[in-house]
Amino acid sequence: MNDRKRDAARLLDEAVVWDNHLCMPLRADDRFLPELERCRASGLDVVSLNVGFGGMDWVEHVKMLTYFRAWLARRPDRYVMVRTVDDIRAAKTAGKLAVTFDVEGMVPIEDDLNRIQLFYDLGVRWMLIAYNETNKIGGGCQDDDPGLSDLGRQTIDEMARVGMPLCLSHTGYRTAREALEYAKGPVLFSHSNPLALKDHPRNIPDDLIDGCARTGGVIGINGIGKFLGENDASTAAIVRHVDYVAARVGAAHVGLSLDYCFDQEELAEFIKANPDKFPPHLGYGGSFAMAAPEQYPEIAEALLRLGYDERDIKGILGGNWLRIAEQVWR
Ligand SMILES: [Zn+2]
Repeated sequence: MNDRKRDAARLLDEAVVWDNHLCMPLRADDRFLPELERCRASGLDVVSLNVGFGGMDWVEHVKMLTYFRAWLARRPDRYVMVRTVDDIRAAKTAGKLAVTFDVEGMVPIEDDLNRIQLFYDLGVRWMLIAYNETNKIGGGCQDDDPGLSDLGRQTIDEMARVGMPLCLSHTGYRTAREALEYAKGPVLFSHSNPLALKDHPRNIPDDLIDGCARTGGVIGINGIGKFLGENDASTAAIVRHVDYVAARVGAAHVGLSLDYCFDQEELAEFIKANPDKFPPHLGYGGSFAMAAPEQYPEIAEALLRLGYDERDIKGILGGNWLRIAEQVWR
């Protein structure tokens, strides 16, 4: 092991390493859940598992939370379902993987804002406004965007009260601008890459990067090859995006959320079966390169090679998400 590899391994060991968006199949079947061990083996301390997106309704989300929570609860020697920031520190000390959940889009809330508290109590630690398509709260990034609605402003208020971080990934640019303007605390783009490096509606323009940083928020770089470049999910591509955002707004505003899909066959079938939602002209056709959890040590090493200082690298690896949790969670 060379010196830089050794330093990268030490940083992973010292940092709270946090991937803020990973995707297990959304069904009550545990074929892939044991692969969470891959995250632990790659140095991760915290992962956020997606429990629903797009048009999935309230019951479907609660079913997935029920299933994942039961599976994790049966393995207390390995996993911790996070309630507080202290749970994260305790899990790291004990060598367990801490798990939070996330919800992509406000559809399951319908107009019952009380559901935000229940999601929070079940471990959900961020929600985004609209998954590509516009809903009652606001616009999606692949749809006409009418802006943030009145219900949207009430939703943001209730999230702030509950302590649920607001995320603007997948959301339309206009709605995102209005939400950044309206929100009082730090806002996330949990998994969005800079548009300046790859033109795609899922990526975000510089003014949204700047606006997010101004709130004290964090932009999580995702590992989807089509959002990083020409279907390039290499560590070099990820680090290029990290470096762009860090150079623009500071390393304190960058995180990682690889968006890794454990059942890639299912994802490919889903995309193929829904060309209206994932249109080929936006590059959704063909194979999908995805960065895997195993790339975390390489990412740390590449940031060292670029001359990042250790404190900044620890922030990018997860410390910045931890800061948001300390500020927003209740
Ligand atoms: Zn997503």
